Amino acid sequence: MWKNIDIAVEKTTKLKDKPEADKLGFGRHFTDHMFLMDWNRELGWHQARICPYQPFHMDPAATVLHYGQAIFEGLKAYRGDNGQIYLFRPEDNLERMNRGAVRMSMPRFSVDLVLKGLKALVYLDRDWIPAVNGASLYLRPTMIGVDPYLGLKPADTYTFYIIMSPVGSYYSGGFSPTKIYVCRDYVRAVKGGVGEVKTAGNYAASLLAYDMANKAGYTQVLWLDACERKYVEEVGTSNIFFVLDDTVVTPPLGGSILGGITRDSVINLAQNWGMTVQERPITIDEVLAASRDGRLKEAFATGTAAVISPVGELFCDETSYPINGGAAGPLAERLFAELQAIQYGRGEDPFNWRM
Ligand code: PMP
Repeated sequence: MWKNIDIAVEKTTKLKDKPEADKLGFGRHFTDHMFLMDWNRELGWHQARICPYQPFHMDPAATVLHYGQAIFEGLKAYRGDNGQIYLFRPEDNLERMNRGAVRMSMPRFSVDLVLKGLKALVYLDRDWIPAVNGASLYLRPTMIGVDPYLGLKPADTYTFYIIMSPVGSYYSGGFSPTKIYVCRDYVRAVKGGVGEVKTAGNYAASLLAYDMANKAGYTQVLWLDACERKYVEEVGTSNIFFVLDDTVVTPPLGGSILGGITRDSVINLAQNWGMTVQERPITIDEVLAASRDGRLKEAFATGTAAVISPVGELFCDETSYPINGGAAGPLAERLFAELQAIQYGRGEDPFNWRM
């Protein structure tokens, strides 16, 4: 189905200074090179290349700048203790991106080709992968519509690119639980919309609620469904799990929730450990009632950035609900340790997730 495309490589003549490993933060620094390819209706994807990291020349009328035809992904490369470089389920990210492309009327791409480009890019800039435990190289594949045309229609030309950013450990200050604000005023996504796609507009639309929660002293927003403001959907840019007595519960993927790779990994690991995992609609009232009755043992968010993020408190309708005494729970700790071990090449990889 896909043409066999060679990837041309132009190396930079001037390597950048690398930031200090303990001052990385998230997404501030970018490596020496990037991957690029172009699409048009006549040639399909063409001119796949790795070149020095550089700004784009873009027409101010470009589709992406007006109508937001943009999709992206987030995954990481890890440096193992043995010096090996690992990726975690990269094909799943690229397949998710291809599903997003269909929803956003953008062209699909060959996962094999992009994976080849991604690996070549990571290998070329491998000195940027931090050797600090918990730190990694964040990879950002992105696709944008670039036609200089203001009529509203799917673009006729697209750019696909991958940039990379060394990121510090999310938990340099310890595996600390978050305080989450339950948002009733705004919603993130609607069924039939694009909530299940990593498209730029979803993130722009989430900023106001995030900002309000942040100013009130909360780490993130817990989103409820758009229709009834009743069912739990996600936390910030992460999926959410609750432990009710001995059962692990997470909302089902119904179109408005992003199907996280970490979410899927957590479901598989917990089931493999013999736990009962339910993907089912769960109302915020059920969660809060379980908290009052002492049945809510744990809550945690899952995503590539933090892997597992324990929730220490929910704040809803002016009432605070502490979870597990505000501390990280045992399942969150076990999942975090197990996923990190797989990602950094330590120990078994029962599901063949690392590459
Ligand atoms: N939900 C949203 C809205 C996200 O942006 C992300 C981050 N990609 C996630 C959930 C978690 O997905 P993943 O585990 O694949 O990083």
